[in-house]
Amino acid sequence: MIVNGQYNIGHICTTLQCERGLGEKTAMRWIAPAEDPVAYSFRDLDSQSNRFANVLASLGAGRGDILFIFLPKCPPLFLAFLGALKRQLVCGTLFANFGEDAIRDRLGDSRAALVLTKRSLLKKIERIRSQLPHLRRILLVDVEEDLCADVLSFPALMRGASSSFSTPRTSPRTPSVLHYTSGSTGKPKGVLHVHESLSMMAATCREVMGLGAQDVFWCTADQGWVTGTSYGIMGPWSLGVTQVHYGGKYDPRRWYEIIEKEKVSVWYSAPTALRMLMREESPLAAGCDLSSLKRIFSVGEPLNPEVIRWAKRELKKDIFDTWFQTETGAIMIANRPGTEIRPGSMGRAVGGIEPAILSDQGDPIPDGAPGNLCLRTGFASMFETYLNNPGTYRQKFVGEFYFTGDTAIRDADGYFWFKGRSDDVINTAGHLLSPFEIESTLLEMEEIAESAVIGAPDGTLFEKVVAFVLLHPQYLPSRELEVRIRLHVANRLSPIATPQELMFVDRVPKNNSGKIMRRVLKARYLGADEGDLSTLEDG
Ligand code: AMP
Repeated sequence: MIVNGQYNIGHICTTLQCERGLGEKTAMRWIAPAEDPVAYSFRDLDSQSNRFANVLASLGAGRGDILFIFLPKCPPLFLAFLGALKRQLVCGTLFANFGEDAIRDRLGDSRAALVLTKRSLLKKIERIRSQLPHLRRILLVDVEEDLCADVLSFPALMRGASSSFSTPRTSPRTPSVLHYTSGSTGKPKGVLHVHESLSMMAATCREVMGLGAQDVFWCTADQGWVTGTSYGIMGPWSLGVTQVHYGGKYDPRRWYEIIEKEKVSVWYSAPTALRMLMREESPLAAGCDLSSLKRIFSVGEPLNPEVIRWAKRELKKDIFDTWFQTETGAIMIANRPGTEIRPGSMGRAVGGIEPAILSDQGDPIPDGAPGNLCLRTGFASMFETYLNNPGTYRQKFVGEFYFTGDTAIRDADGYFWFKGRSDDVINTAGHLLSPFEIESTLLEMEEIAESAVIGAPDGTLFEKVVAFVLLHPQYLPSRELEVRIRLHVANRLSPIATPQELMFVDRVPKNNSGKIMRRVLKARYLGADEGDLSTLEDG
């Protein structure tokens, strides 16, 4: 795949595919919610991403500058992503439902120079613009004329740009993609990837998903998340595979219809969506023909054995669980066709990857016992660093091993079984949320004196957000305040971070050094043993 030392992801996913003779092949079937599908060939992707690379050049943006794409799924998102990589910018993505705090933290920390967005989302950026001194230009995909000197029309710029672009030779470790991920303390961390990471995405598309020239692939993940870029853009296109992209929301009937009409053969989704489908009417009962579908893959949260059994019974398909995370850029552990699936297990290591279960000190833990899920470093899709945060980056390693933050068990046959997180990070419907970030956002409200946030088990979302709130003495709990608190979190962070349960309390447990004891809160909430309380602060 690497020709003449050219590692550039944008080039490999488009120009190289045309050079391989796939120029007229459909790269993307774009399906807007209420419109007919539109086909984009690999040549379309190539020429449109070239145009965007030239637009960036005309704006003086180049190697190492950071562009963020802040859009729901839409064709410009894909074209701009590839064009920015061709021009050697670093390309970040943001969920379109992010609120102002979430956007400010990411654009501010990365010192992003450019944002591609749409008119209805512009106001969120405008409100924080004064706090973003490095942001030079905002490009809007749905205005035909520039709004002012630094809020520009993407269509107008594209029309004026040439469709030929010669991608500069790009070395393997040139920075490529930036995704922010949450930790249990501090602000989100910018996980920086490099162009060479593509080789691991391509290898896993082949080895795990068995993707080939005839396949039609559908990855439902949002491009704000690593799965949406690694497997919703880069991996499949680097192999010349046709992808379906649907711009609408979760809708079981529509989803089954897309699989049927587009003849999707390989489908990559997440446990929350699969659990929701399981609770709907059977697709077969609804008269849908899913015979094109060969394989279903899942990622992001534990996949319940119950869902695997449902798919086998109702869809007549296996679901193969896969494990990876923002930092690893590509699938590391997976169940795959042709090998035994052990329901409840994430599967075994993919080729070239060496996971290990280690103690906190880095010593091996025997098979069958839980410990830290670690990975031997040295694979191509390993992240380069946490942007502006080398200290946290270094803390993730002991010797040759990277600590993923997950705990797991390895059985004697090399299958890995997810146990949980070794930190307080909450996984709700596959989105990692930082309790610290939500607590800080709650504290922005003048009524709230203290707050603590935990993740609690949920039958659909895997975990739900539960918030404990202590009010200043002059305020009283009320339904109205509860609603305002929820709205505040939704607007400032994201609707996904909004507490599903909110409890007014008269004390938040803290240890002697003032750290919130989420473990104690969680145990109390679940009615479980609270464990060692010796460090609990009095009163
Ligand atoms: P992210 O970096 O947002 O993609 O989240 C990665 C985290 O999601 C992992 O560290 C796990 O905690 C969780 N995760 C991903 N895939 C799985 C899986 N197959 N089973 C259980 N947890 C998973």
